[in-house]
Amino acid sequence: MSFTSLSKLKAQLDNGETTAKELATRYLDRIAAHNDELNAFVDIDPAHVLEQAEASDAYRSKHEARALEGLPIAVKDIFCTQDGPTQCCSNILKDFHAPYDAHVITRLKEAGAVLVGKTNMDEFAMGSSTETSAFGPCRNPWDTDRIPGGSSGGSAAAVAAALTPAALGTDTGGSIRQPASVCGITGLKPTYGRVSRRGIIAFASSLDQAGPMTRTVRDAAMITAAIAGHDPMDSTSVMNAPQVDWLGACDKTNMKGLKIGKPKEYFVDGMDIEVRTCIEKALEKCKELGAEIVDISLPHTESAVAAYYVIAPSEASANLSRYDAVRFGHRCDEPEDLLDMYTRSRDEGFGAEVKRRILTGAFALSSGYYDAYYIKAQQVRTLIRKDFLDAFEKVDVIATPTSPIAAFRIGEKTDDPLTMYLSDIFTIAVNLAGLPGLSQPCGFAHDLPVGLQWITPAWCEDRLLSAASAYETATDWSNKTPATFGGNTGGAK
Ligand code: GLN
Repeated sequence: MSFTSLSKLKAQLDNGETTAKELATRYLDRIAAHNDELNAFVDIDPAHVLEQAEASDAYRSKHEARALEGLPIAVKDIFCTQDGPTQCCSNILKDFHAPYDAHVITRLKEAGAVLVGKTNMDEFAMGSSTETSAFGPCRNPWDTDRIPGGSSGGSAAAVAAALTPAALGTDTGGSIRQPASVCGITGLKPTYGRVSRRGIIAFASSLDQAGPMTRTVRDAAMITAAIAGHDPMDSTSVMNAPQVDWLGACDKTNMKGLKIGKPKEYFVDGMDIEVRTCIEKALEKCKELGAEIVDISLPHTESAVAAYYVIAPSEASANLSRYDAVRFGHRCDEPEDLLDMYTRSRDEGFGAEVKRRILTGAFALSSGYYDAYYIKAQQVRTLIRKDFLDAFEKVDVIATPTSPIAAFRIGEKTDDPLTMYLSDIFTIAVNLAGLPGLSQPCGFAHDLPVGLQWITPAWCEDRLLSAASAYETATDWSNKTPATFGGNTGGAK
């Protein structure tokens, strides 16, 4: 019952089988029962959730229901919300209350959604495991000794364990798709510019994009339809972006005539053999559905991680300079002078990974190194983008693994930032090129979920949704849910 998709819950609400209040109560009960084990939510205000649900039921009784009327949706702690704290899981923003709602939050409210709370994440979205959160690590519902991925790990774990039917995440280098992959759910990163970034705490402004984390492809489409669109207050949200038929795209049940590119650089030695097998089998299934698999090359893939870890920290070092203890957040006790206040407040407020990024970024941008690092990384970015443009001359979509490995153990990579950075090897190029990407469940490796990633040209999310819907309909992977949390599969733990 709790593992029901958003679209089925919508049907139940529409035909009067349930109410927004009943749904809110059901998921609040599950949060109360399981959040201690998972640490997926970092802020919950049950009374306020019930208030929103009652208001939605009242709205429904007087008007026609809106697109997400009465549906519970959790949001990552990176989204500014007027209600409750917005802390980006950082001590520097401890108890910060945003003066306004992020554009996507306004959109969800306007669509009638019930916001169920803030989910755990890596501090400032910097990480792949949700271990750098100031609120402590989040856990994977498939095995609570393992990471749920990151940085939107709280959103992924909450959906996977049915503490909420859906959630919002953000993706700068893979933070929606990678946690979706390792938690066995669906995650969509829209084209850069499709969704407004206003009110989303900035990490790397040329890469950040918000998107849904859900049980099914159609659920992801429902949420994206609600949050996408131009926002005059965000100059990077695109005016007159090509429209797509979000829900219509999900009706596809075959892949007749679809050309799927299989990039050789994404099937490399070193990736987990069981992960590889899942992806190979998924591609076989696509063939059965009528697709043609075409071998392609994205030759600059191997430089993507390096370019990203110059560009993203450079932008972060600029974005995070605003946390100066004057305008926002934590201020140290009894500063001796202005400089002492800045340095000590920032030293106390930021965690180790965030400091590492600020230092790397400030170094890459400093005079003397700017050309060697920042400019070079931007040139590589252009080449990566061109790789994709060339590939899409030959194929309609690209399919890859989302992550080279399944969920690793908590603590396993915390002392080695480089191997942690390599978890994003298959997701990062998509952000550098500004493209949409979707991860969906496609099997298990070592009893842990594996994700299949779809990539299309910019603004072609409909193609992404159609391919993923056809695959989802032909297989049963999206219906697998972790037994330990009342689901139907496994018992890895
Ligand atoms: N794991 C990547 C990083 O640490 C991506 C994070 C993200 O997409 N927010 O930068």
